[in-house]
Amino acid sequence: MGAKIGVIKGDGIGPEVVNEALKVLDRAGEIYGFSCDYTDILMGGCSIDATGVPLTDEAIETAKAQDAVLMGSIGGNTQTSPWYKLPPDRRPEAGLLKLRKSLGLFANLRPARLYDELREACPLKEKTATAGFDLVMVRELTGGLYFGHRETKVVEGKRTAIDTLTYNEDEIRRVAIKAFDIAMKRKKSVICVDKANVLDSSRLWREVVSEVAKDYPDVTLSFMLVDNCAMQLVKCPSQFDVVLTENMFGDILSDEASMISGSLGMLSSASLNETKFGLYEPSGGSAPDIAGKGIANPIATILSAAMLLRYSLDKDAAADAIEAAVQEALKSGARTADLIPDEKRRTANIRCLNTSEMGDLIASLIK
Ligand code: NAD
Repeated sequence: MGAKIGVIKGDGIGPEVVNEALKVLDRAGEIYGFSCDYTDILMGGCSIDATGVPLTDEAIETAKAQDAVLMGSIGGNTQTSPWYKLPPDRRPEAGLLKLRKSLGLFANLRPARLYDELREACPLKEKTATAGFDLVMVRELTGGLYFGHRETKVVEGKRTAIDTLTYNEDEIRRVAIKAFDIAMKRKKSVICVDKANVLDSSRLWREVVSEVAKDYPDVTLSFMLVDNCAMQLVKCPSQFDVVLTENMFGDILSDEASMISGSLGMLSSASLNETKFGLYEPSGGSAPDIAGKGIANPIATILSAAMLLRYSLDKDAAADAIEAAVQEALKSGARTADLIPDEKRRTANIRCLNTSEMGDLIASLIK
């Protein structure tokens, strides 16, 4: 029996890019001797159209029964789609929030890597600092400031707003373990980012992360203040391997890091819970402006499928082979339209492929 993979094709370009990722997964399976059994799960606008809600209880149960879920993207044009005339808890995005909560996904992984072939798209022009840029941001996703007690009230005659930042040691430990497990599959370095010179919560993070590190003697742990990290990401981004941080710092830093890799169409992501289960998806949205045209870049979704193999199925060799095939494709001059800056469109070696041609090429390059 094959691995049980839930497939949320979703809306907009979602079905187009997911189809290419499945093509690549199947090809990797043929070469590396595994198979996947796919189960479609409705979520987002397509679920609203079919069932009236963005995610049914049945869909949640189906997702829970899988080894992992691969997702395209959900949502439509927020100005014109009738889905956005519905109350917020009935809109497409509510389905994703409900799914993440139901599956207890507390660790968000956002890899960012600069491919040599896409260096032109990197806003940082200092080549030595970005050479080899390849990190994974591990962001705690269900605690901290975004989930703490908040209120706005009048105190001593002044309008006053309160947000609280709370973490307990279990919440820190479980995401730290994920970061160290990931580091063991990479360059064995974790940098924990915090504000320990000011915040009690950060000092507790340092204590607990240091305790977890004792179980990983091969991994080097260091700490960096968040303001310094924001600078270092611009000054010398290639110094990072695994960056572990709390919810709000991770929200901001993962967007900063992702920009260094140049293109939204290349950015994969994963959200994990305490088991091997994960939800894997491209970082971009449903791109309604190009949906149905067959020109979407499938690489972020293909790289998300590689993460699925690595983190949920422990098929590291197949994941490496997919990542190498993506690099080979780029090296050969193949690009989807979003990866071609206008002035390059005319140069010789660059070939503009559509979505399925890019999927075919990457599948054919898996060794
Ligand atoms: P978007 O990421 O969908 O699009 C932003 C721009 O990037 C567009 O010009 C689009 O064409 C381009 N783009 C994105 N992915 C691409 C790809 N793979 N290949 C080529 N070009 C690509 O962001 P948006 O327009 O702000 O949002 C559109 C919809 O997506 C909204 O309904 C939003 O809520 C939803 N959304 C969903 C997710 C998710 O499913 N996790 C994430 C973000 C946004």
